[in-house]
Amino acid sequence: MERSRSRSYDAVIIGGGPGGYVSAIRFAQLGRRVALVEKGLLGGACLNRGCVPMKALLSVAKTLKDVRKGARMGITAPQLGVDYPKTAAWNRSVMDRFRRAVELLLKSNQVDLIAGSARFRSATSVEAAPGGEVLDAKAIVIATGSRPMDLPGMRFDASRIISSDEIFGLPALPKSLAIIGGGVIGVEVATAFAEMGTSIMIIEIMDQLMPGWPKDVVSPVCDSLAKLGVDVRLKARVSGIRNEGPHAAVSFEGAPDLQAEYALVAVGRRPNTDEIGIEAAGVELDRKGFVKVNRRLETNVGGIFAVGDVTGVPYLAHRSSEQGLAAAEIACGARGSFEMPPLPSVVYSDPEVGVVGVDEADAARQGCDAFSGRFAFAGSARAMTLGRLEGYVKIVGDRKTGRLIGAQIVGAGASDLISECALAMSRNMTVEEVASSVHPHPTLSEAIMEAAKAALGRPIHGSASGKA
Ligand code: NAD
Repeated sequence: MERSRSRSYDAVIIGGGPGGYVSAIRFAQLGRRVALVEKGLLGGACLNRGCVPMKALLSVAKTLKDVRKGARMGITAPQLGVDYPKTAAWNRSVMDRFRRAVELLLKSNQVDLIAGSARFRSATSVEAAPGGEVLDAKAIVIATGSRPMDLPGMRFDASRIISSDEIFGLPALPKSLAIIGGGVIGVEVATAFAEMGTSIMIIEIMDQLMPGWPKDVVSPVCDSLAKLGVDVRLKARVSGIRNEGPHAAVSFEGAPDLQAEYALVAVGRRPNTDEIGIEAAGVELDRKGFVKVNRRLETNVGGIFAVGDVTGVPYLAHRSSEQGLAAAEIACGARGSFEMPPLPSVVYSDPEVGVVGVDEADAARQGCDAFSGRFAFAGSARAMTLGRLEGYVKIVGDRKTGRLIGAQIVGAGASDLISECALAMSRNMTVEEVASSVHPHPTLSEAIMEAAKAALGRPIHGSASGKA
């Protein structure tokens, strides 16, 4: 019988998404011999089926919107339209380019890339199928991510009933799309496709879009979706979806069926822990199938770490990367434990949303005496020059320490602006320090300084009430 090949490494990473590949690079930087096993495409869901293609489509939508709104600025574009196959091809080229960049990074760090499906053979070795190569390692990092979840009566069929995995591969711009689930994916997909001309309906079981997000953050997003003609049905319960050939038929409890070219089910994700032979390593999962980790990001089995979506919510690429990096440092003895720095969350709606830390309601629940200040972009010179007056920045501070403990930004550029607040929080800065740091004029970032000034009762471009 032919013996399978076997190699020894300091670290083996299972999964090449933003958690896994960052971890591999950090291990290599620390002088370790590393292998990364990936069964699909490098970059994981983020690069190939999530963040990157979604943002590329949203760039197309934003360009369309800017040109449409450009009439006031003197822009004429009588023949505006979308050549969707070309859009999709450009989107694929963006993904290909970044994937090649990731591959190059791994190779230049001497990480051995192994194409295959890894399964644990023991707590210190995995086998990569179909090659059958056995990889022994002192440290193993599980970074296998998550996949879209479907529900009874709404099973994915990759034809009319699709998940976010298929949405970027559609051959043509859909005429109509019923989105089940008004969470982050539902809102982002609706924003992009509605702007490109698809007729969209969002069906959400709860009483607001983006459940769990503060109402005043969600409200400008809802207004904007309404302007795009998106039909939002809240507190709506889908009883089933059928593939009827040329369309999907969505049935409701107590309401007539509706038809759409596709039904996108975006009701959450589940961890990829069921196909890696985790029992052979003795790694414990929780009730929902997530890998349990301690403050060292280590599982119950010493030397086996887990990072990213497999460890639970929030499913955010930047969280996965931060954990991947930390797991490598901990495994190499370069740090003792991991504490997540202030973690910004962003929704690429239009207007964008960026939040970090707590809002006033969270602060109150935590027994913190909070103060806040708000600045509306309607008072920002830069927002006026962009023709983007909607939204605001809100800054939340702790009255006892004066420290910045949270920020909520809705508006153009929120996804970038929120980083300033996350940085200030991670350095324990006070609201006073944010207010007194000089921001260039005219920029959207001034709104952060203005909101901080408003929180301290001395707004310049806004009123003390936070209304510009
Ligand atoms: P989600 O948890 O954000 O939203 C799912 C939504 O589906 C919720 O609003 C929920 O109430 C609703 N829902 C559940 N069951 C339903 C039913 N039977 N009928 C109607 N509605 C139902 O999940 P998602 O949108 O699928 O996204 C998955 C994950 O990916 C999220 O955790 C999200 O944070 C992450 N993600 C992040 C970004 C980003 O950071 N910008 C972008 C996309 C996705």
